[in-house]
Formats: sequence, C-alpha cells, structure tokens
Amino acid sequence: MPITATTASRVTAKSFEQPARLGDQSAAIRQVEQMLHGLGYFPGKVDGFFDEHTLSALRRFKKADPQVANQGNAITSRVYSNLRDAVRKVEKDLSSLGNDPGKVDGRWTDNTTGAVKRFQRKHDMEVTGRAGEHTRKRIAKALGPDLGKPKHATGYVNGRPFGITVYPVGQGEYLRADAAKAYVQMIAAAKRAGVNLYAVSGFRTMDEQRKLYQAYLNGTGNLAARPGYSNHQGGISMDIGGVGGYGTRAYQWLKNHARRFGFVNDVSGEYWHWTYKR
Ligand SMILES: [Zn+2]
Repeated sequence: MPITATTASRVTAKSFEQPARLGDQSAAIRQVEQMLHGLGYFPGKVDGFFDEHTLSALRRFKKADPQVANQGNAITSRVYSNLRDAVRKVEKDLSSLGNDPGKVDGRWTDNTTGAVKRFQRKHDMEVTGRAGEHTRKRIAKALGPDLGKPKHATGYVNGRPFGITVYPVGQGEYLRADAAKAYVQMIAAAKRAGVNLYAVSGFRTMDEQRKLYQAYLNGTGNLAARPGYSNHQGGISMDIGGVGGYGTRAYQWLKNHARRFGFVNDVSGEYWHWTYKR
C-alpha cells in the first residue's frame, strides 16, 4: 500500500501510543520523516519506512531535545508531539517575520518549505527549504529578543489617541514592540562595551505626561512636551539613565552606536532622551 501525504494528514500523537520501531512502516512514520527532514535532521528518503536513516535522524533530534533524550530508539507519542511543537515554532516565527508558512499547525508541508526558502533567500543564505539549526538561529536573530508580558494602553501621536501595546524593557518601563526589541539589544551591546545604561522613563500615559507637563510649567520639572504630543506617548522615546552628560563615555558610546539600533538623540539639551526612528 503506498504511503501518501493524504493519509499522513490524519496522523496524531495517538498514532504512536504503540511506539514505532526500526523496520516498521506507516503514514505516521512518513509524517515524522517529513518533519525531521524539514527541521534539518535528514532522514534519507521520506517514504514511511523506519530504516537506519530515519533512526539516525531521530537520534539527532533527540540529542537536540533533552525532553525526549531518554525515549530509546522508538518514535513515541511524546517524540511526535515535540516534533510537532518544533515545527509549529518554525511556522509561527516565519509567520511573524512575514514569510507566510500557511497554517500554523505543526505539520511540515510545501507551504512550510516555501516559507523557509523565502526567508533564506531574503537573508542571503543557502536556499534549502529546510530549517536546520543554522537557519533556526538566523530566524531567532531576525525575530530579536523575546519580550515580556505586554500592556495595552492608549498612546498619542500628534494629539490623536490610538490603542497601543507596549512591552517591558526593564526598571518597570515600557516601549512599543519594535522599539522595545531594539532598545533591549542596544542596552545589551552597551553593557558588553562596559557602558551601563538603564531605563528611566519610556512609554507614558496621558495622565503621566500631564503631571510632567504641569511640573515643567511650575518650574519644578524638566522640559516636557504638551500632553498628547510627546514621543513618550507614542511608545518610541526613552529617557536613558547612566549617561551622565554630553561629554561622557556613555554618551559617546550612544552617539557612535545608537543609530545602528534605530535610536537618535532628538531633543537638544536632553542628552538622556533617545527616540526610536524606524
Ligand atoms: Zn524624554
């Protein structure tokens, strides 16, 4: 009986309640081979036969995933589920990067291969259509750092309100997703260069901006933009601590490197105020 992709689409973790072993053959094994192939573990021919090639690919996958390292030489339902999760992650990541892998369902299809190819082409990589370790690392790099739990708020740009999602960047401060990722990467790069910077004031609500503006009018606070008109309310500006003035090593570092991360010092007289402009 030929083992087709159609029959494989009905495969679930339950298909491996009875673990598959060397010498077995089934549509479920074919699907596992497909996933191992897509994830760069090279199972030889994707044919549904559990042979030596399938086994060596399976061993490589188990070595990379400590959760299934002790599952012997069989394909168990746990191995199958973890493979699906690994595929789902690749699909989800490619989807967030705009490479459209089709349905994010943990099944390796031609759409998944196509999305990997598009990503590889865009990043000047060898175009294999397989998301092996090297490609997965590049995907992670393109995605940037994982951000913490977001907060939904009302942002303002040019006096106009809009719904905004902001992400934590340390010290209880928040920025818009793209600015947050770039900011976190910039602070890490500064730290590697021996420059310790920290967040003082990022995203501000209308209430917070009103208070700062009032303090400015009263002569008790720094220059603050009119409520509704601050880049802090758009989630793209950060007042950075640890700079210490224009002539410092920290300022020099920012002046030389911030632009690479998309940040510019855009208010004259405020060496601490940096805005993400991308
Ligand atoms: Zn500021």
